[in-house]
Parts: sequence; C-alpha cells; structure tokens
Amino acid sequence: MAPLPFNIQSFEHYLGEDKLMGGKCNACGMVVVPPRPICADCGGIDLEWVPLTGKGELMAYTNIAVVPPAMAAEGYGRNNPYCSGVVGLEEGCHVVARIVGIDASDPESLSIGMPLTATILKSEVDGIAKVRLGFEPS
Ligand SMILES: [Zn+2]
Repeated sequence: MAPLPFNIQSFEHYLGEDKLMGGKCNACGMVVVPPRPICADCGGIDLEWVPLTGKGELMAYTNIAVVPPAMAAEGYGRNNPYCSGVVGLEEGCHVVARIVGIDASDPESLSIGMPLTATILKSEVDGIAKVRLGFEPS
C-alpha cells in the first residue's frame, strides 16, 4: 500500500488514530513534523513515516487572550487564554502546538526547557470533529 502523502492532512489523520507520526528523510535523516513532501534540509523526496516518542521540551511560548474565531468557539478568550508553544522534540525537530495542562493566565506556570509529552487534542465544534497535536507537562 502506498504511504499517505506527507502533509498536514495525513498527520492529522494519524492523530485521529492516536498515532504521532513524522516524516523522516531517508537521505539525511531529518525528521519533520508536520511532514512536508520535500525535506526542508536537503530537498530529498525519499521520505518515510516514523512514529515519534512525543517527548520534547518547551523552547518558546506565548499565551493568547485575543483569540481567533476557531478558538473562541472552543471557549477561549480574554478570560480564558490558551498557550501556544514551540516544542523541541527528541527527534531533533521543532513543532508549534498548543500547550495544555498549565495555567495560561499565569506565565509563571511555564518555563523554557520544561519537559513536555505529546497529547492528542480532540474537540468538536458545530458537529465537526477536530484533532490537533498538543503537549502537556511530563
Ligand atoms: Zn533530507
């Protein structure tokens, strides 16, 4: 069977099956999350899906109180901010994801370098199921 194409849709498809998968370049070994059809490092197109450990650490973050409509629909806003972070994965790549299990209204509850573990966030807005990658403190 041909592998799923290396894109965000396939990445989210795997998340829906409770699998955290990245695209690994067989030419240079770089792992990219979410995957792209062409290696960002060497331009290679010989890619394969690899399972990720889901372990990483917080590299940067921002707490967001003025939220886009999709997040407002999930109940976030001025009185209930959420956190978006850059997570450095064990596999050596970076991914932008929601940080959960912390108090986004209290920046002191987060620190650069804190260990995080991937979690799969499932929600339903207006009858449409959504699945996203998130991270929570290990
Ligand atoms: Zn490569």
